[in-house]
Amino acid sequence: MANTTAELDALLMQRSLTDPQLLAAAEAAADFRILPDATVIKVGGQSVIDRGRAAVYPLIDEIVAARNDRKLLIGTGAGTRARHLYSIAAELNLPAGVLAQLGASVADQNAEMLGQLLAKHGISKVDGAGLSAVPLFLSQVNAVVFSGMPPYSLWIRPAADGVIPPYRTDAGCFLLAEQFGCKAMIYVKDEDGLYTANPKTSKDATFIPKISVDEMKARGLHDSILEFPVLDLLAAARHVRQVQVVNGLVPGNLTRALAGEHVGTIITAS
Ligand code: ADP
Ligand code: MG
Repeated sequence: MANTTAELDALLMQRSLTDPQLLAAAEAAADFRILPDATVIKVGGQSVIDRGRAAVYPLIDEIVAARNDRKLLIGTGAGTRARHLYSIAAELNLPAGVLAQLGASVADQNAEMLGQLLAKHGISKVDGAGLSAVPLFLSQVNAVVFSGMPPYSLWIRPAADGVIPPYRTDAGCFLLAEQFGCKAMIYVKDEDGLYTANPKTSKDATFIPKISVDEMKARGLHDSILEFPVLDLLAAARHVRQVQVVNGLVPGNLTRALAGEHVGTIITAS
């Protein structure tokens, strides 16, 4: 390695924390993955949980079977209740930070429900997915449920326009996967993956099995199946260099994706 701890230390004491040489020295440190064997699964709010038992029960069965030989961090989306709250709060002129808190409370509700459904299998919901007992749960029962909203709360960086929090549960789950250096990130939603246009409103939309972040932006698809900030997070990621979006309403899709099969759409960082 080019830089010793002492060199890095000297730079850190003397330079601005955004100094290019300092950043290069910090970059030279070997990559370290905290939870390299775990896969993050995001269970969609509007696209899955809001559909109730018909959508959720079969997924629970797949999760319970899959965790026999894989480690799963299961995050929840928010969905329709959050959208309702956003519309009321925005009309009351409340700021993005308040809306972020409200959205988090709905993702929490969904995590609470998945936690209750998985309880008899020994799988717990944790409050906040910061490390705490997460490694212990993973080592003992191979799975844990968390609320997908990132905990920015009042301190969220607002979007350029409007008060809808830009970093919601797609972003929260991705950030967790990347920070922990996880093996994979799978989004479970209600369409087969990415299409050339929203398949709910465009009849002639065609399916895209694999695409890069740059291609998605070039084709005007940056604000489609994933929250748009996720694309920039993915492009800049060190560990999680692709994400997979699968249709959780089709039995077996999640299991196949966990087995490394190319179901749904794979979005690559480069
Ligand atoms: P979640 O439940 O995880 O929040 P969303 O409902 O936010 O999921 O996102 C999934 C939805 O994105 C799909 O149901 C689909 O209607 C919509 N969507 C918009 N544009 C596209 C597109 N180009 N391809 C696929 N889905 C799209
Ligand atoms: Mg969404």
